[in-house]
Amino acid sequence: MSDCLFCQIIKDTIPAKKLYEDDEILAFYDVSPQAPTHFLVIPKEHISTLNDTQNKELIGKLSIVASKIATNLGFAKKGFRVVMNCNEDGGQTVYHIHLHCLAGRQLTWPPG
Ligand code: AMP
Ligand code: ZN
Repeated sequence: MSDCLFCQIIKDTIPAKKLYEDDEILAFYDVSPQAPTHFLVIPKEHISTLNDTQNKELIGKLSIVASKIATNLGFAKKGFRVVMNCNEDGGQTVYHIHLHCLAGRQLTWPPG
């Protein structure tokens, strides 16, 4: 989708600090980190919200990639949080699904 911010990151039209890429998935650091480490894992396919897919394999892969990156960056054992915001009440601002991965401090629960 040409006017989608994350589709433009996938196409390299907008720069991002990439962490991982394969034919289906891209991960990059969040531009406005909410924790010492904060990155996003997204599918290359444009899907607007979690309500718009039934693709179990792709949705599962987002979490597995986050965990692998956490292992590679050395914080998997200490811990991290993955979260996907959906629509207005969920706090979604970019309408291309993305899994947030946050780490590097004790995260509070429940989130705000
Ligand atoms: P959400 O509010 O769940 O839709 O999350 C969108 C996230 O995208 C926010 O955490 C933003 O900081 C992040 N974001 C927005 N623009 C960019 C960008 N150009 N590069 C990296 N992350 C971005
Ligand atoms: Zn998109």
